[in-house]
Amino acid sequence: MSETALAKTIEREVARRRTFGIISHPDAGKTTLTEKLLLFGGAIQMAGTVKSRKASRHAVSDWMAMEKERGISVTSSVMKFEYKDYEINLLDTPGHADFSEDTYRVLTAVDSALMVIDCAKGVETQTRKLMEVCRLRDTPIISFINKLDRDGRDPFDLINDIEEHLNIECAPMTWPIGMGLDFRGTYNIATKTLHLFDSNRGDRIQEGTTISLDDPRLDEILGEQAAQIRDDVELIQGAANPFDKEKYLAGKQTPVFFGSAINNFGVQELLENFVELAPAPFPRPTTTRDVAPTESSFSGVVFKIQANMDPRHRDRIAFMRINSGRFVRGMKVRHHRIGKDIQIKDATIFMAQDRANVDTAFPGDIIGVHNHGTIRIGDSFTDKEPLKFTGIPDFAPEHFRRVRLKDPMKSKQLHKGLVQLAEEGAVQLFRPLINSDYILGAVGVLQFEVIVARLKNEYNVDALYEPVALHTARWVSADDPKALDSFRDKYKGDLALDATGDLVFMPNSMWRLESTIERSPEITFTKTREHN
Ligand code: GDP
Repeated sequence: MSETALAKTIEREVARRRTFGIISHPDAGKTTLTEKLLLFGGAIQMAGTVKSRKASRHAVSDWMAMEKERGISVTSSVMKFEYKDYEINLLDTPGHADFSEDTYRVLTAVDSALMVIDCAKGVETQTRKLMEVCRLRDTPIISFINKLDRDGRDPFDLINDIEEHLNIECAPMTWPIGMGLDFRGTYNIATKTLHLFDSNRGDRIQEGTTISLDDPRLDEILGEQAAQIRDDVELIQGAANPFDKEKYLAGKQTPVFFGSAINNFGVQELLENFVELAPAPFPRPTTTRDVAPTESSFSGVVFKIQANMDPRHRDRIAFMRINSGRFVRGMKVRHHRIGKDIQIKDATIFMAQDRANVDTAFPGDIIGVHNHGTIRIGDSFTDKEPLKFTGIPDFAPEHFRRVRLKDPMKSKQLHKGLVQLAEEGAVQLFRPLINSDYILGAVGVLQFEVIVARLKNEYNVDALYEPVALHTARWVSADDPKALDSFRDKYKGDLALDATGDLVFMPNSMWRLESTIERSPEITFTKTREHN
């Protein structure tokens, strides 16, 4: 392909890509909505598939059973599907409070988000937390208020709730006609038509009936509710914010849709609007410059690593988001952190139900690359200019455990398991300078249970935890290497190395942290660390 033909191809492919994540509080309907989106995208033929896939995975490992029990999604995966002329990459974001770090990193790889809210519950704690994460990057967000087939809060109330608690302006795009048993459909504000709901059709795509607001037949069909929706619409026209694309793209306004995912209602409207409104991949920052997706040179960044995705193969997959150019199977790329060229022979693309080998991929796409321990979260790959993408940090853990083996003969396996599981970034592994302990640190405590279950399942190691008197961790550095050396000597008992060999100060109390910072002006203490 000539240079100009390639440039044109890349431009076209970028323009039709939509890479997004769904954020919600557990139980709001994320899984159900995902499934319906896949159904519309033709990626699955029948509703129920996503759940049954989940269920069969639970059967193969206790770790997954734990996920089911708690009703949370421990892993996050990527699903690719097409809708009309769009190529959509849906990144599943873990929803539990404990997984904020992993979620944060997944959200660095999306261009926009879809927020699902339960109409009976409104904004919940996890919605709020995820929203904070989105706000850090001004991620554009489309909202879907779900479960309208059940009695919920007044729609005006829900809009206020979002505006007030999430501090974002709402622009209603559709409006519900009734709720619960009286739910009859939605009014589309832009097209000024009503879309009437046909219940019990949740397994298929709903056509429904479309009718205009002034059609006299409306009174026949809706009875008293006709007057209600006419009043509501008048009120919205007077009081609600009109949709403003600039504001949406800047993360300052969220367009709001209403529907019922399980009944498959309002989902198509949502998807139609989503592909039109949501941004295509946009430029990404590196340490030297912003990289536009349409640049012809290839670049990508790893935002997630997962070990043992397929228990039969014991593989470790690095999830790479393509940020510019074109990926072609077999291409040679430079792995910048280690300064080596690698050939990517067998990258995987994740479909709704399957994985497939990928021949070509474009910006916004996520490819899975086999990792033999050399790839870490935050690693950048390019085919020409050396670039290092930024914005994928580690966070200082707040909970710690010392790992003990039940069977001392298994120490090699333990080491391997801990190193590989820490690579995924949900826990961090520390080795104190003064002994050979394994200390795990996590942002949320649930991770510790996951690790013990996975050590047993995937590495056949029985491990247990001992409490350890550590309060927090700070990465330490100094401009003057001598200053760092003397700090190291003086505070040896409080220092450890992280998995990448960087020095970490791990005090047993806040007081010790503060007094040490005060006494060590030449040392820089950091709470987050960019992967280098
Ligand atoms: P997640 O935890 O956010 O992934 O939520 P799920 O998709 O698993 O849904 C949680 C529960 O809500 C399940 O029992 C769903 O069947 C139910 N649910 C999802 N969407 C709807 C809806 O539109 N109406 C009703 N009544 N229930 C729904």
